[in-house]
Amino acid sequence: MNKPSQLPLRCWAEIDLACLERNIALIKQSLPPGIRYVAVVKADAYGHGIHQSVARLMHSKTDLFAVANISEAAAIRELGPGWPILLLSPLLPDEDKYLIDYDLIPTISSEDEVQRFNRLGDKLGKKISVHMKIDTGMGRAGVWHSAAPMLHEKICQSNNLSLEGIYTHFSSSDSDIKYTKKQRDLFLRLLESFKISSQNELLIHTDNSSGIESFNKESPVNAVRIGLLQYGILPYRESILSAVKTESVFSFHTRIGLIKKLPIKTPISYGRTFTLKRDSTIAVLTAGYADGIPRLLANRGSVIINGRRCPILGNITMDQTIIDITDLEQASVGDPVTLFGKRDKNEIGIAEFSQWAETIPWEVLTSISKRVRRIYKTDLGV
Ligand SMILES: *Cc1c(COP(=O)(O)O)cnc(C)c1O
Repeated sequence: MNKPSQLPLRCWAEIDLACLERNIALIKQSLPPGIRYVAVVKADAYGHGIHQSVARLMHSKTDLFAVANISEAAAIRELGPGWPILLLSPLLPDEDKYLIDYDLIPTISSEDEVQRFNRLGDKLGKKISVHMKIDTGMGRAGVWHSAAPMLHEKICQSNNLSLEGIYTHFSSSDSDIKYTKKQRDLFLRLLESFKISSQNELLIHTDNSSGIESFNKESPVNAVRIGLLQYGILPYRESILSAVKTESVFSFHTRIGLIKKLPIKTPISYGRTFTLKRDSTIAVLTAGYADGIPRLLANRGSVIINGRRCPILGNITMDQTIIDITDLEQASVGDPVTLFGKRDKNEIGIAEFSQWAETIPWEVLTSISKRVRRIYKTDLGV
């Protein structure tokens, strides 16, 4: 019997890791020399596969990996010791001991964490490397900026902590330049008050994908934290990032499972909300919302078959999606269908797909389910 991984594909993602490497080279070229690169690989490297992506990123000389939690960090550690790994999300108290087991860098946002990690270091006779995060107006992790000087002092006075980085996160770098500047200025003023200059040993980072266009080479900021852009994706269709010409690493595909003709006014899928506006030829695709096609694409999105866009009809169901192929000259059962990404000369961008779904590319990518096999371009022999 064939292994499941050898069975024909019904719904799959094609992932081009050489493209990931090219994207990183382009991003690095766009930055002032010497800026260090923090690769954000949380959520299974945005659905691209953490092991495969991290292996390539190591090859691309990533300086530090950033993840959300310890199981993601453990996945990186399986590939080798030595690479620094930063945890972006708060650590739960019962997770503390894994800092040592996996040699991880936690983010500190509170005095409670200073005490916890300092005690842990004391118990194990080891210094714990930490990054301090400052909340400059995002309202999530990080110490609120007015309390930052106090926390900074506490960290510096703790014998078992070694401060290796300071960072903040912008809440609207892709949409509100003025607010981002306010956050950036606040952060830089705090660094000044900590007497931190450009020559410091610390890793100072503020910018995610959408911040890097406004990167200021004079400031002590000496690293970027990049997620979306390294995967070749711009947050929106018209993005301020369009100067960095990355290409999308990930594309999403399925196939035609059935073709049939239906008369005008036939109700289409559940709820009978949608009916055919003409006598139509429809195709039933072998993927649905359980694969990660958002239900909001109902009667709204399109797919690419044989170089043509075909509209989605009716509701997306769990395992099947219906499309209109009346105007298509040629289509057969088994034909490949592109949901987003490039196929030959045609493309549905993930930004456009996300707009149909009233969401953002980050959510689309991280909602593509386990059922969807990830095929790496090298596996295809391409
Ligand atoms: C996810 C995340 C990033 C990466 O953001 P992108 O917009 O995908 O580049 C950077 N910093 C923090 C704190 C994050 O949580």
